[in-house]
Amino acid sequence: MPFETHLNPLLDAAALTRFDALRPEHVTPAVNHLLAAARATLAATAATTAAATWDNVVTPLEDATDRLARAWGAVSHLNAVLDSPALRAQYNDNLPRVTAFWTELAQDARLCARYRALSEGADFDRWSAVKKKVITNALRDFRLGGADLAPQERQRFSALREQLARASARFAENVLDSTQHFELLVDDVRALAGVPDDVLPMYRAAAQAEGKDGHRITLHAPSYLPIMQYAHDRALRERVYRAYVTRASEFGRPEWDNGALMVELLRDRQQLAALLGYRNYAQMSLVPKMAQEPGQVLEFLRELACRAKPHAEREMAELRDFAARELDLSDLQAWDVAYASERLREQRFDYSEQEARQYFSEDAVLAGLFRLSEILFSVRIRPDQAATWHPDVRFYRIEAPCGSLLGQFYLDLYTRSHKQGGAWHGNARGRRGNRGNRGNDATPVSFLTCNIAPPIGASDGPAVAASAAPARLTHREVITLFHEFGHGLHHLLTRVDEPAVAGMHGVEWDAVELPSQFLENFAWQWEVLQGMTARAADGAPLPRSLYDKMRAARNFQSGMQMVRQLEFALFDLQLHSEIDWSQPANANANTIQRLARAVQREVAVVIPPDEQRLGQSFTHIFSGGYAAGYYSYKWAEVLSADCYSAFDEGGAPLDAALGARFRDQILAVGGSRPALESFVAFRGRPPTIDALLCASGLDVTTGTSAIAASA
Ligand SMILES: [Zn+2]
Repeated sequence: MPFETHLNPLLDAAALTRFDALRPEHVTPAVNHLLAAARATLAATAATTAAATWDNVVTPLEDATDRLARAWGAVSHLNAVLDSPALRAQYNDNLPRVTAFWTELAQDARLCARYRALSEGADFDRWSAVKKKVITNALRDFRLGGADLAPQERQRFSALREQLARASARFAENVLDSTQHFELLVDDVRALAGVPDDVLPMYRAAAQAEGKDGHRITLHAPSYLPIMQYAHDRALRERVYRAYVTRASEFGRPEWDNGALMVELLRDRQQLAALLGYRNYAQMSLVPKMAQEPGQVLEFLRELACRAKPHAEREMAELRDFAARELDLSDLQAWDVAYASERLREQRFDYSEQEARQYFSEDAVLAGLFRLSEILFSVRIRPDQAATWHPDVRFYRIEAPCGSLLGQFYLDLYTRSHKQGGAWHGNARGRRGNRGNRGNDATPVSFLTCNIAPPIGASDGPAVAASAAPARLTHREVITLFHEFGHGLHHLLTRVDEPAVAGMHGVEWDAVELPSQFLENFAWQWEVLQGMTARAADGAPLPRSLYDKMRAARNFQSGMQMVRQLEFALFDLQLHSEIDWSQPANANANTIQRLARAVQREVAVVIPPDEQRLGQSFTHIFSGGYAAGYYSYKWAEVLSADCYSAFDEGGAPLDAALGARFRDQILAVGGSRPALESFVAFRGRPPTIDALLCASGLDVTTGTSAIAASA
């Protein structure tokens, strides 16, 4: 290994990436080195003529790819949380090369043959179910990667994959750039009437950070949402709303318009699927999922829509009435919906999100979340030390009761410039266990990223000042934090030794959200909430009376929320299954817009203005891996609501025995067996949609569940 590799954090064999030392100029040399090493191993493994064994096929491949995946994972993560021109350039330069490598690996016919030899070998029947699953998954993925294609088609296939990766990255950049570009400076605070007092300093801090006076409003969620919910000034709401729903469209800068890019992505995906013999991209996308066919998913979504839409319509009619009567808004528009809803919520339930927010101080919330996990899953969570990419990032360890290390995680909570919006879980390192003389064991490590407003006075500074008041979370943000932590527990509490099916690896896509959505339910429990709140002014815990109001409001407009998600899911699935993108007549952004409108007419109750562009900023499906998979949120919600209903039935939300069963049957087994088997092992029966409808306050009538029917 050349001398410089010791100075390159991406090549350091140290257990944790030294993020403090990682510079953009490290990326290319590291990628060069790791790609060469991985390719050499691949070639040697493919060329071996000895009989195929686990140790001469699976182990070397895993070792070679693990180092590359970890290094590139660190680069991608940094690119998402600390974007800079230099890093973005490095990321974009190397992305096609890394993607090309994975494509090569996935379509390597010789390696595929070695795996096939393993599956046909005399030993196969004696292997554990876990090892068999690793092999059958690998054979499936080789097929999906194009390994069975003729050489010329294979080349076409990999060219398409590279094109897709580049276009996806550009799609996300365009959304980020157009989000960051918008700003509205408000000098006179009276123009922001209605916006809660404790939100205003955030706008002032944002202006100051740019060397400007007044209040700076941007399209980042913590800045955008309070305007939509609280600003009395209708024209202000309209202006911000229109900017938000037209991001990355033809109404902004041409270089950030995602219109043509979407068509390119859809056309290339369709070609990819066609090369493998699938009718459309949705059909191909469902192969590693629980759902079997696009038609089955459509039926599932429409069954939910059928149950939810009457509720949504009733809720919308109520809102219109209220807005006309109380707010003098006789023609309720899309930019009024959040505002009027918040007023109605306040009137009906007599509290505001901001009132509840006073109680959710970051420290108390984290302590409560950790305590919950400790009780349910018999673990201990403690602060730990690691080099990070920003002083605000924290690091923790999860231990077994005996003190042995199970996993670690980074927690990056605050919104910053140059950090992508939203919340997500990332895999920093996967579990590798019981490797004996085959190499080093490793415990899993997670990246947990949120975007809550930082403590005032700390925005974009080098670090949060010690004197700053702790950050406050809305209850919505608490739920998001629980959600991402659920992903973290899935990754960190796995007991599977084989990395390919440990944690979230190898779990069917549409079941991946089960643990995350499951954990969200606990953020609604009194037993959990009472211990995780401390009011800003005096440290007082959440009063029971406020909690009761929050519970009563939980299903406020749940029908409207449900149809909103179904709108996204139907739009996504139909984009990828019902339109032939190879037809020149279809290949333009208008086709996408027409479908968005048709789906809105079918299920939506809030009809946006004509210039709204649903697709152009839909990063989940155009750059986030949810293509023909957005339905997974609802699908997994059926599973998670049904799992959680076991706790409700037991009457004790902190039931440690049930928690242990959830850990053993769902979290610990990861992707080592089909998700449906894991579900049944926990629940004792197949899933039904009733628990979700019931939890959402929507009517339960008897009917077949699409998931149960497919089981
Ligand atoms: Zn999730």
